[in-house]
Amino acid sequence: MIDLRSDTVTRPTAAMRAAMLAAEVGDDVWGDDPTVQRLQAVVAERTGFEAALFMPSGTMSNLCALMAHCERGDEYIVGQLAHTYKYEGGGAAVLGSIVPQPIEHAPDGTLPLEKIAAAIKHHGPGLGAHFARSRLLALENTFNGKVLARDYVRAAQELARSRGLSLHLDGARVANASVANGESLRETCAGFDSVSICFSKGLGCPVGSVLVGSKALLERAFRWRKVAGGGMRQAGILAAALLYALDHHIDRLAEDHANAAFLAEGLRSIDEVSVTDCATNMVFAQFPQAHCVPLEAHLKARGILIQVLYGTRMVTHLDVSGADIDRVVAEIKNYFAKV
Ligand SMILES: *Cc1c(COP(=O)(O)O)cnc(C)c1O
Repeated sequence: MIDLRSDTVTRPTAAMRAAMLAAEVGDDVWGDDPTVQRLQAVVAERTGFEAALFMPSGTMSNLCALMAHCERGDEYIVGQLAHTYKYEGGGAAVLGSIVPQPIEHAPDGTLPLEKIAAAIKHHGPGLGAHFARSRLLALENTFNGKVLARDYVRAAQELARSRGLSLHLDGARVANASVANGESLRETCAGFDSVSICFSKGLGCPVGSVLVGSKALLERAFRWRKVAGGGMRQAGILAAALLYALDHHIDRLAEDHANAAFLAEGLRSIDEVSVTDCATNMVFAQFPQAHCVPLEAHLKARGILIQVLYGTRMVTHLDVSGADIDRVVAEIKNYFAKV
């Protein structure tokens, strides 16, 4: 199957499985797993932070980060369409008693600085006593595949700092951003107090995210991870996959980006399809409403999985080759040639 529904569908390669099989393990809740310890040390070093914490999922990683930054009744400023706000079941509010303050995105995916500034509440006596305490700004990079511009990130960081806010980056796909920008992970993560990195998407691991930050922040996140049920025992068998991905699956993200561009180009040559966006490993396109269901079935019968909607997202990854993209474009062409 050629599966373009998401980059979460990647399966561990034979070499990654071999690394997992060979992992030395121990009880990580006791701090005894040498492979988890090594992963945390390597990721902290690679990203330029004091400490790192292995997490079962990106959702738990973001949640524990938000809970480490914010107390009950604090507020975090976040994009209306950000994963942490929209796609994590409202966990920060439900489990963390943290008040979200969502901001509309600009068309380029950024949160306009003037909107952020306007949302930051003054605390203290008088009117300030009415408000939740603005505590944190959370950005996302990449966002819908788009890389946040370096200058924008700096300006948002300066604004947040000047108003006493901390900064969290949902860097689920921060490796895609760093490869697209031709910069190191350390550079892309710079200036944030915490970054959550997902390894179970384009990096090809079966499970796992890593949260990085200061030692003091991660001590709090460590406690919240236990509270959330995320303390894992012989987790080195999973951590070995992440260590493998760090060495072998980061630079190759450039191939995924090239394949996405290649897919967008192919789709643009089909009259019935309109490509609305292509950035890093994601292509967004519109298909005629009446053709969505039959086209999806046509493709599925030919071993191609795309969730065909009027506005749809296709994602390239480790298990999709350039030849696969050729086939996908050819099959979509075939479909429209026949109708
Ligand atoms: C996938 C994703 C996450 C975390 O998701 P999990 O499925 O819990 O690992 C967080 N943020 C973004 C932007 C994501 O795409």
